[in-house]
Amino acid sequence: MDLGIRGKRALVCASSKGLGKGCALKLAEAGVDLVLNARGAEALEATAAELRAHGVSVTAVAADITSPEGRGQVLEAAGEIDILVTNAGGPPPGLWSDWSRDDFIKALDGNMLTPIALMQAALPGMMARGWGRIVNITSQSVKAPIPALGLSNSARAGLTGFVAGTARQVAGSGVTINNLLPGIHATDRAVSLDGGVAKAQGISVEEAKANRCKTIPAGRYGTAEEFGAACAFLCSQHAGFIVGQNILLDGGGVNTTL
Ligand code: NAP
Repeated sequence: MDLGIRGKRALVCASSKGLGKGCALKLAEAGVDLVLNARGAEALEATAAELRAHGVSVTAVAADITSPEGRGQVLEAAGEIDILVTNAGGPPPGLWSDWSRDDFIKALDGNMLTPIALMQAALPGMMARGWGRIVNITSQSVKAPIPALGLSNSARAGLTGFVAGTARQVAGSGVTINNLLPGIHATDRAVSLDGGVAKAQGISVEEAKANRCKTIPAGRYGTAEEFGAACAFLCSQHAGFIVGQNILLDGGGVNTTL
């Protein structure tokens, strides 16, 4: 399917690896010029080189997207964008009694206030030009809490509330905002989460992964490429009537009717 977005310009945050990279790859395949970001320059440059092979222009900005300075650098390099994919690393696991105010502020900064600041920066230009697509990478924890990820549950719930109202305020200007909610995907983040479970339960990482697969109707982890394909569709010309939605990509893991 031609996504109808060849020649558009996208900023994909936190995209040297994992789900962000999957989104950037599928946008590159659709002919979208890219601005990529991550903190580590080496992996970022390698990803940028890989994506240039698709014949699109790729600018790489090594910066922490959760800091005001880093965000400023990224936004300045991005300039006028048609598509924004927000993403950042997720907060660490723990127990409800572990977290201090500072831990919550850090999680809110990374997974709520950063995407909100990025949307506030991108929206005026998109609205003035009458077209825009914003996709926020959040988590299945928005629909079904993951007890060990209380910091993530809290911050992403706040972002989801902001998007629910804002998406409906900007839709009339041709701009859509939606959230993609990953269940478990085979990325470095999953390896780190499985490592934590393995340590806590005294089992191997492979056993932890096999046990987790048993809880997923699809019987496997998702891939960054299939996640990216869903993102690229939401950014396409065909998705203009999808507004303010929270779309689970979880292999059926969250057991709900709606
Ligand atoms: P990942 O494989 O660990 O990749 C994270 C990417 O983000 C890397 O490119 C990393 O590069 C970059 N990054 C991290 N912090 C950053 C920052 N402050 N500024 C700029 N770039 C940053 O993670 P993932 O699995 O793709 O996860 C992406 C998001 O989805 C996370 O918020 C995660 O919590 C959420 N999620 C993932 C899963 C899953 O199963 N994978 C499930 C639910 C939710 P640098 O380290 O070099 O900066």
